[in-house]
Amino acid sequence: MFSKSLQLILCVIIIFNGCTLITSKNTDYPTLFESTLNYLVETIEWESKEPKDMNKIYSAYDFIVVGAGSAGAVVASRLSEIKNWKVLLIEAGGNAIHFMDVPITAQLLQASEYNWKYKTVPMNTSCLSFEDQRCKFPRGKVMGGSSMLNYMIYTRGNRKDYDNWAEMGNTGWSNEEVMKYFIKLENANLSNSDVNYHGHNGLMSVIDVPYKTQIADAFVDAGAQIGLPVADLNGKNQIGINYIQVIK
Ligand SMILES: Cc1cc2nc3c(=O)[nH]c(=O)nc-3n(C[C@H](O)[C@H](O)[C@H](O)COP(=O)(O)OP(=O)(O)OC[C@H]3O[C@@H](n4cnc5c(N)ncnc54)[C@H](O)[C@@H]3O)c2cc1C
Repeated sequence: MFSKSLQLILCVIIIFNGCTLITSKNTDYPTLFESTLNYLVETIEWESKEPKDMNKIYSAYDFIVVGAGSAGAVVASRLSEIKNWKVLLIEAGGNAIHFMDVPITAQLLQASEYNWKYKTVPMNTSCLSFEDQRCKFPRGKVMGGSSMLNYMIYTRGNRKDYDNWAEMGNTGWSNEEVMKYFIKLENANLSNSDVNYHGHNGLMSVIDVPYKTQIADAFVDAGAQIGLPVADLNGKNQIGINYIQVIK
């Protein structure tokens, strides 16, 4: 669990964040009161959905999924839609905590027990300011895996990478083939998006980033002034400049 001092820092950050949201004009966020209320309601709903036999261990399973990260949790969840299949999901880390729903805590969580705290091998031309020239390489060790430590940014990979993977012999990984799953998983609520590249019936809510700093405004304006297209970067043209899309 978090030490007392880390908990205190988290509280200060969340309160500060709340004050910023109340005073900032450049935001589409609901008020702090509304957010807190929504958060409490969601938490109660979430906990009431925990399966009743969660702590019961059977002697045999139809499927054992190792690692309850972004991929493992979805695989286990989809398998368990078949009611008479027994699915065991094994995770090396502990339960998630509610702080993890707040993207601004992502940096702090890297210092906690919820991170595997891997390091890269010594690098020759990068990580130069790190001890032994080894960069930190965070990975989540918790129910939800790295998605519990991440920044909730929603930017798909470049189409050429997927096509390249397919060309190397990975059947089913071309851009055209993965796109239908991107669209299927989304419940997108975006302004000025490339409509053919987004879905609205999936489980994952995708929105425009609700808080925009003045620096971000200036950055996007500057990009537009030098001729970069201000485009939906998850749309047809992935090269350009824009605010990020995020997971809600
Ligand atoms: C700090 C950070 C910020 C990021 N920001 C973003 C972002 O903003 N947007 C974005 O799209 N992506 C982001 N990412 C990347 C994204 O979160 C990951 O790519 C994604 O979560 C990986 O999913 P995964 O299922 O492959 O692995 P993980 O989610 O890492 O899951 C692997 C799971 O397996 C468990 N495990 C490992 N070994 C064992 C074992 N032997 N037994 C049992 N369990 C085991 C781990 O504990 C972990 O829970 C970020 C990642 C990090 C670390």
